Amino acid sequence: MLFLPAARRPSFSAHALSRFAQAFLIATLLTCFGLTAAALAQDTQPKKKVLVCSTTQIADFARQVVGDRWEVGCILSAGQDPHTHEVTSDDIALIKRADLCFQNGWNLEGHDWMGVQARNQGKPIVACVTGVKPLMIQEEHSAEDAKPVQDPHAWFDIENAMIYVTNIRNAVRDLDPDHAKEYNARAKLYLYQLRGLKQWVAQEVNRVPKQKRILITHHDAFGYFARANGFRAVSPVGWTTGELAGGSIEQRQQVVNQIRELGVKSIFLETSTKTETLEAIAKETGVKIGGALYSDAMGAPGTAGETYIGMVRENVLTIVNSLE
Ligand SMILES: [Zn+2]
Repeated sequence: MLFLPAARRPSFSAHALSRFAQAFLIATLLTCFGLTAAALAQDTQPKKKVLVCSTTQIADFARQVVGDRWEVGCILSAGQDPHTHEVTSDDIALIKRADLCFQNGWNLEGHDWMGVQARNQGKPIVACVTGVKPLMIQEEHSAEDAKPVQDPHAWFDIENAMIYVTNIRNAVRDLDPDHAKEYNARAKLYLYQLRGLKQWVAQEVNRVPKQKRILITHHDAFGYFARANGFRAVSPVGWTTGELAGGSIEQRQQVVNQIRELGVKSIFLETSTKTETLEAIAKETGVKIGGALYSDAMGAPGTAGETYIGMVRENVLTIVNSLE
């Protein structure tokens, strides 16, 4: 057997080491290249701006305007009450990511929770009611010389919803002027749809004789709808369900009296508020419950009320079918 000094012997371990080193180098390069390519690809994807809304109907308006150009987040979900909402750590985390925030305004968000959080995080915030002609209401529990407050449920007059959409369009256009044409075009289409909705509501409501247009709900969410469509809106609670809510025995009795005096056929629950008070009134007066209306929040995804147009359409059908 030929003996070679160790240094000249083809060393198995040296070969293996060298092959391993090559393989390692190639793998490392591939991995690095792969990662770099992936990272580059990610970097070249335009990062979406984030828009955070307080209520579900505002989030729907915003989506109609920005399409998929922005990520649209919403603090409240279907059926949640904005008057009584308590801010969670998830809400704060969402607002932290926002480039722009939208709220309803006029204290729909009890204690201005959306405005306070946006300002705490240094985020720009727009109140969608800006430019709406307010319906002024007297708080039931307040002193007689107290000034009336603005009813915040302005979106139920479709003309006002159109002002909300215009405010949203203007704010996103200001922040992202490069895509202004796109926002203008989407808003234009949606405003056409809202004009069509308004005409349809007027036609449907005409099925209810004027003397029967009395809308009794848990709280005063339908003042603007009533004013726009010739209804009288009555509630045992007042303009808010929060701690400023009325709900005195006298108010409840007034509702009972009106149901009896006016021969009201049906009263309505709301999907985002408690139902006990109205159920008790229905029992006491023998009046029917005509159904549940979408008031301060839209319906869950997959339901007919999952959009603003859907919520208005379903409400009008429920009201008209119960009162005509
Ligand atoms: Zn409300």
